[in-house]
Amino acid sequence: MTDRRILLNPGPVTLSAAVRAAVPGPDLCHREERFTQLQDGIRRRLSAVHPGQDLSTVLVGGSGTAAVEAMVTSAVPPDGRALVVANGVYGERMAAMLERRGTPCTTLAAPWTEPLDPAAVAEGLDAADVTHVLTVHHETTTGRLNDLAAIGEVCRSAGAELLVDAVSSFGAEQLDLDGWGVAACAATANKCLHGIPGVSFVVGRRDVLDRATHATSLYLDLHRAWTQQEAGTPPFTPPIPAMAALDVALDEHAEAGGWAGRGRAYRERSDLVRGGLVAQGCSLLLDDPAALSSSLTAFRLPRGVDFDRVYRHAESAGFVIYAGQAALMDQIFRVAVMGDLGLTDLERFVDHMGALPR
Ligand SMILES: *Cc1c(COP(=O)(O)O)cnc(C)c1O
Repeated sequence: MTDRRILLNPGPVTLSAAVRAAVPGPDLCHREERFTQLQDGIRRRLSAVHPGQDLSTVLVGGSGTAAVEAMVTSAVPPDGRALVVANGVYGERMAAMLERRGTPCTTLAAPWTEPLDPAAVAEGLDAADVTHVLTVHHETTTGRLNDLAAIGEVCRSAGAELLVDAVSSFGAEQLDLDGWGVAACAATANKCLHGIPGVSFVVGRRDVLDRATHATSLYLDLHRAWTQQEAGTPPFTPPIPAMAALDVALDEHAEAGGWAGRGRAYRERSDLVRGGLVAQGCSLLLDDPAALSSSLTAFRLPRGVDFDRVYRHAESAGFVIYAGQAALMDQIFRVAVMGDLGLTDLERFVDHMGALPR
């Protein structure tokens, strides 16, 4: 066991020294001018990570799911007709959010190892008078980067609004909000942006946020949070330490070259891990390497080896890997490369995995 733990799960991430040092934050009341400056700076910079026309950001206290739920349940009216396009846990979770709220929706579910089918989405849009399409950009369940451009195209021609869970892609993958016709997307501080858990957010066009008035939850009311943040005062006590950390994490994100630079660094890291583990006889869950995200890889568990054994072996050298979810729990392990880590850490990881007793 080494002192330094390296988190190879898809968030929370291994923190840089500067982000860690920022975590306590200043002693600050959220009704002070200095807080408003912190909040304004974060919202402005988040709106610019993936540039687009007329964007604004709403901060949400809570994990990524809080931002997704605030977006979905505020933007889709109770009598709206939503089509959820899902190929993993997180897509299916978006449908569950609407169902909890009492809004029926249709789910177009692809097998988790398969891509989304834009032609099937077009058919689904034709069949029902769909107002909103909900989907996931990077489906963390499998490490697949879904083809949002194709889905967006289909939504645009049908006049449906596209709402995206970009929780594990925001800040590291191409996300062309205007070009792909994304109305709003939700994400979090503690994945590709390298902050700590506690603050999540929705980035969307102002006209979309202006109409996102349909929340039945008081806390997850996106429109109310947005108008009050615009006025400088958040409705409820915000996660100030997480915001202080995100402020520094956004400096580092810009220094790293924004989403493109961070995505390039992730690709280099993932190539190293994929090449190394495949050379040791591991195989990838997804057949199509072009479909893989930059930040995460799902590997099939070696025959006769359960996740717990792989986890304990990795952890004995300070590396934390991630299990599969639901039906994939007994089949895969996942390795994410987000966070403050370097290629030498990953070389050490690959070497150590070569010594996994089989
Ligand atoms: C991590 C993640 C979430 C949110 O998970 P939390 O545990 O609430 O932070 C949502 N969607 C995707 C695709 C994710 O990877």
